[in-house]
Amino acid sequence: MGCNLPFHLPYKFRLLLLFTLGLTVVGWATSNYFVGAIQEIPKAKDFMANFNKVITLGKEETLASDATAKSVELDNCPSLSPNLRGQSKLIFKPDLTLQEVQANNPKVSRGRYRPEECKALQRVAILIPHRNREKHLLYLLEHLHPFLQRQQLDYGIYIIHQAGTKKFNRAKLLNVGYLEALKEQAWDCFVFHDVDLVPENDFNLYTCEGQPKHLVVGRNSTGYRLRYSGYFGGVTALSREQFFKVNGFSNNYWGWGGEDDDLRLVELHKMKISRPKPEVGKYTMIFHTRDRGNEVNVDRMKLLHQVSRVWRTDGLSNCSYKLLSVEYNPLYTNITVDFWSGA
Ligand code: BGC
Repeated sequence: MGCNLPFHLPYKFRLLLLFTLGLTVVGWATSNYFVGAIQEIPKAKDFMANFNKVITLGKEETLASDATAKSVELDNCPSLSPNLRGQSKLIFKPDLTLQEVQANNPKVSRGRYRPEECKALQRVAILIPHRNREKHLLYLLEHLHPFLQRQQLDYGIYIIHQAGTKKFNRAKLLNVGYLEALKEQAWDCFVFHDVDLVPENDFNLYTCEGQPKHLVVGRNSTGYRLRYSGYFGGVTALSREQFFKVNGFSNNYWGWGGEDDDLRLVELHKMKISRPKPEVGKYTMIFHTRDRGNEVNVDRMKLLHQVSRVWRTDGLSNCSYKLLSVEYNPLYTNITVDFWSGA
């Protein structure tokens, strides 16, 4: 009889009860949806908080690793590794497999490596934006891992994969890579790397210096000449602070082109781009045709004219994205994001 109790209540009261119950259910369901679906957006203030937290974590991590290293007492690695070989002829085997690359890099785990023989001078995160270029990625991993190990770096490779059908946004993916990688470790240096460019000479050091570095002086497809004076694309290396100072890349370049020119913003901050010698800054570009979803951005000139006006509010500070997954593969960390409409 107890269950029949509400039916003794006045009709209006029952209606109110039903309505309140309905509201509670809808409220609960939507709050869960939004919390799960949208990655916290690193707005400037939050980002700074996270950033500082990461630095602290980084220190703790260093202390922890120092403690384990105490008994080993590693000396710093030399400024130039004795393992460098110089220019090498790159071979791209058509039937190469991921298993082969893994087998050739037994000391790499979750895309990370640090030398056993000495304490690396820098911790370097390599960020590679990606969509539908599995074969290029395989060739790049094949060559990059031994290359970075020969340089005696403490490094991690991150692939930032753009899901969904929106136009490709290389720059925003690199912002995501920077923000997500810093959640794991206080990397000193970031190398922003195209998936189709393979370095030919291991004297081209993937480290950061007092000024931002542009590592691609030339590539086979341009007769190894700089594309144009001031070109800043392909592969660049900026310290954590240099990149943070300019608020990272702009998030507004959808499709091909312009975003790298936009980052010459570093020059507005009185930084001077440096490059290795032409015989060292050589790359092989793996040929491909223009991808669907990465059409030339016809608005890029218009956007370039706004840089000095908008850089403070367009970049790391407002980079919003939906984080779909972070997967740890043997040779890289795979970060998958979607830039949902409105992002
Ligand atoms: C684009 C750059 C591109 C360069 C080299 C420029 O017109 O704006 O993004 O890297 O051409 O091809």
